[in-house]
Amino acid sequence: MSSGERGAREAELTFCALGAAGTVTGSKHLLQAGDRRILVDCGLFQGVKNLRELNWAPLAVDPAGIDAVVVTHAHLDHTGYLPRLVRDGFRGPIVSTKATAAVADIILRDSAAIQERDADFLNRHRATRHHPALPLYDSDDARRALELFVTHPFGREVDEPGGATVTFRRAGHILGAATVDLAWQGRRIVFTGDLGRYDDPVMLDPEPVPSADYLVMESTYGDRSHEQVDPAATLAETINATVDRGGTVVIPAFAVGRAQTLLYYLWQLRSAGKLPAVPIYLDSPMAINASDPLGAYPRDHRLPPHVYQDMCAMATYTRDAEESKRISASRDPKVVISASGMATGGRILHHLKAFAPDPRNTIVVTGYQVPGTRGRSIAAGERYVKIHGEWVPINAHVANLQMLSAHADADELLRWARGFVTAPRRVFVVHGEPQAADTLRRRIDHELGWPATVPRQNQLFTL
Ligand SMILES: [Zn+2]
Repeated sequence: MSSGERGAREAELTFCALGAAGTVTGSKHLLQAGDRRILVDCGLFQGVKNLRELNWAPLAVDPAGIDAVVVTHAHLDHTGYLPRLVRDGFRGPIVSTKATAAVADIILRDSAAIQERDADFLNRHRATRHHPALPLYDSDDARRALELFVTHPFGREVDEPGGATVTFRRAGHILGAATVDLAWQGRRIVFTGDLGRYDDPVMLDPEPVPSADYLVMESTYGDRSHEQVDPAATLAETINATVDRGGTVVIPAFAVGRAQTLLYYLWQLRSAGKLPAVPIYLDSPMAINASDPLGAYPRDHRLPPHVYQDMCAMATYTRDAEESKRISASRDPKVVISASGMATGGRILHHLKAFAPDPRNTIVVTGYQVPGTRGRSIAAGERYVKIHGEWVPINAHVANLQMLSAHADADELLRWARGFVTAPRRVFVVHGEPQAADTLRRRIDHELGWPATVPRQNQLFTL
């Protein structure tokens, strides 16, 4: 008997993707039964302007009519719309793992500060059609959203509004990341959130889920396989070659997750005597803060406490903006890790301006780069990117180390899916660019024999 047949059918249950449909950002998945609504993830759209403008469009559902939000993990494309949801009337619980709430605290406060700063910049430079330009949300909205978090441990079935239950299981990816197993109205719907890689040095493997009636699956790398090479060795080669040229290695890194994994690899290489004696800077106040939850949740990752302490001690942490400017001004060989990971803002922009024009330097791309971001342009080999209104030539080497990504590749997504003991009735393939989502859809159909669909935004499905 499948879980779908177990309970009485109390009401029609519908599924609707309000974001991350044919794109990798803006994850928002709405389940509705009668007049009860549960939203799984509540992310910002990022990247190209058409998508970013969707953050300003009213949601297809009144936020005040949503009973609860369940969050898979803290990344901005899964949580970044929460403060706006609260600003527009949402008052229910925001349900997550404990570590996700800790990381979201850092990410949402930072996001609100960026929104406020951007609006302020537009107003001061009168560079807007809207007078005055308003932030999408402010620090007060972020604080009120954070107050709504209710946390649960992994592996425990907990009750949610409307008679639903939720179980979190480890998804790998970043600290706190979970798959969501949601049982409601006699159906079981599983959301992957973002799945991590197997055998990652920092994060634990994604845990299998035994059964689902419906599976909502990410497809970020749905059409790609990560190279089967040792990331540490590749990183060492890249850094040694750059330092031999007298250059600097600049690494845009997601402040949460990738920055810490990079530090781990660098620590491993330095301990083995495989790195030149150049300074390593972690130049991102958010990345520095993001290291703290790793220490606070030691059972949610693989790093032993002494390794965690040693790798943090190896890098020079810069909180101060003046210190950051001195790093940009120095021509001595070094490694600079800085955020944001897709070069959409933050201190990395100053470093790119300083180091990208010189062919002795190297820019290392480590994570998924959303279309429309400077990171994507650099990874694609474009010769110029625009920073602070000025075209900056990219003469530095560009090293694309996608195997350092926090995302499972297509084979790993299927490996995880094979963990199901009973096949889902249907898979909704989300969180991927059209080509990636459709390629994964076809592989699920062909290799697993499961019906799969790539939903369009706001398309309604009865489960
Ligand atoms: Zn993510």
